Amino acid sequence: MKTKMSPIKYILLAALCFIKPPGGSPADVPIHRSDFLLNTFVDIAIYDSRDESILDGAMALCREYENRFSRTLSGSEVYRLNHREDATGTYPLSDDMTDLLATALYYCERSGGAFDITTEPLSSLWNFSGTSPSVPPAEAIEEARKKVDYKKLRLDGTRSTLTFLDPGTSIDLGAIAKGYIADQLKAYLLDSGVESAMINLGGNVLCVGSRPDGTPFTVGLQKPFADRNETFAQVEVSDLSVVASGVYERHFVEDGKNYHHILDPKTGYPVQNGLISVTIVCDQGYLADGLSTACFVLGMDAAKPLLEKYDAEAVFVDEDKNVYVTSGLMDKFELMKDG
Ligand code: AMP
Ligand code: MG
Repeated sequence: MKTKMSPIKYILLAALCFIKPPGGSPADVPIHRSDFLLNTFVDIAIYDSRDESILDGAMALCREYENRFSRTLSGSEVYRLNHREDATGTYPLSDDMTDLLATALYYCERSGGAFDITTEPLSSLWNFSGTSPSVPPAEAIEEARKKVDYKKLRLDGTRSTLTFLDPGTSIDLGAIAKGYIADQLKAYLLDSGVESAMINLGGNVLCVGSRPDGTPFTVGLQKPFADRNETFAQVEVSDLSVVASGVYERHFVEDGKNYHHILDPKTGYPVQNGLISVTIVCDQGYLADGLSTACFVLGMDAAKPLLEKYDAEAVFVDEDKNVYVTSGLMDKFELMKDG
């Protein structure tokens, strides 16, 4: 892993900035495929090939990973671990799962448990993806909260096994799996000879290479609480991942209060730290995804060491609509005029 030579510095952007037109020429029309997968809108666009079978393969791969990492699909690897026979047993893992858990558990440690992949009892209780979610009873939240503790998991990376030390522990990889899947899709596209593509797993974006004319891709950052297509800023990136976590994704309003899906394991309630979104830009999808959630939970100051460790850049937006950008991203970042 590379570490940054200079410490992370946030720059507070005031209003109006000039917007450059997006890079690339109008001739760059990609072939693309969209579907509702991974509980979100997935779109894969290929710019340098007209071979539709590559898109078929990419969507199939996406479904395969969903069947492995989903917390809710019965038969998934995660589901089987959570519905295990021996509540405190040791279970073999696929190589993918071992990799993913190793990074996820590292984030758990580095964040002092603010990021915790054993939030599953809380995620299930709040059920933000359900048809009409509401605030669960306080006692139920307390009950579920007590089960959250990543230290109750023992990962043996050499043997590829996971041991559950507590019968109540269950895992939720929602904070990191999409980024990992984006990485696997990128590997597949490269293997298929594609060098210019954009993978979008519901706002979890990974650019493969750059546009066919060599200019960077322009990725819009979604405006909080607005339509998915409305953006407040854009970044120009090549071969990088851009992933956001925010209080406007999977949320509901009850009695005038917004409840969102990023939960504070200490309280059992949605994190309330004055942030409304965190976007991460870095070279690997799973790192960007894990970091987006971890940095959201940690807040701007505590997030700095993690960003430095992974050589990642970030954009934080707070409740007052202040936009903070790490200094390393400034030359690739544009704030929209009416953002
Ligand atoms: P993301 O959209 O990548 O920020 O991930 C949010 C998802 O991660 C939620 O929908 C939950 O499945 C899971 N999650 C919620 N709170 C936490 C937390 N504190 N640590 C780790 N995962 C969480
Ligand atoms: Mg995430």
